[in-house]
Amino acid sequence: MALDETVDQTRVSQRPLAKAGLQSERLLWPAKKGVFEEEVESMEDALGLTTLEKAVAWAQTRSMWPATFGLACCAIEMMSIVSSRYDIARFGMERFSSSPRQADLMIVSGRVAHKMAAPLRQVYDQMLEPKWVIAMGACASSGGMFNNYTILQGVDKIVPVDIHVPGCPPRPEALMEGIVRLHEKVLAGVPPAYQIRGVAS
Ligand code: SF4
Repeated sequence: MALDETVDQTRVSQRPLAKAGLQSERLLWPAKKGVFEEEVESMEDALGLTTLEKAVAWAQTRSMWPATFGLACCAIEMMSIVSSRYDIARFGMERFSSSPRQADLMIVSGRVAHKMAAPLRQVYDQMLEPKWVIAMGACASSGGMFNNYTILQGVDKIVPVDIHVPGCPPRPEALMEGIVRLHEKVLAGVPPAYQIRGVAS
């Protein structure tokens, strides 16, 4: 039996789905939202539906406590993000934790002397998983101007770094930009750097 005898042609759209914004490849590569995904997201907002992974990621980004750990001049800029001017409590980061066991974010702010490498790694090891690392400033990221035998040429040699914040020193706004970018990564489901690099955490 011919198709046009069984199907009411007036009810079948002749428009390709791609023209309606349907992009199935978006499911594999989160670069651009399709119309279908936007509709699903707005439905989630309206109905309060979500997945457990999304809820956990949301909770992690709204309660990410940094470890109290400053090394050099960059640390002065880092300290100011808890002030009323910058107020990182807005992101649920109420305080810097004095115990690594209550911290899940290490902000390496300043140059890392070889002498400090072992204590830094020990603090990182004592933090519970999942945990993240921000290398703040040129010195933490690459040794900066201190290209000599005393300074570690990049903290990513001893801990897996999730975000690098450029500058010497980076302004507090730049550090907050790095924190917001880290939150975006967590919300997008990107695993912590130690899982990506496959190093012992
Ligand atoms: S990047 Fe600049 S401000 Fe930061 S620790 Fe190095 S020299 Fe100091």
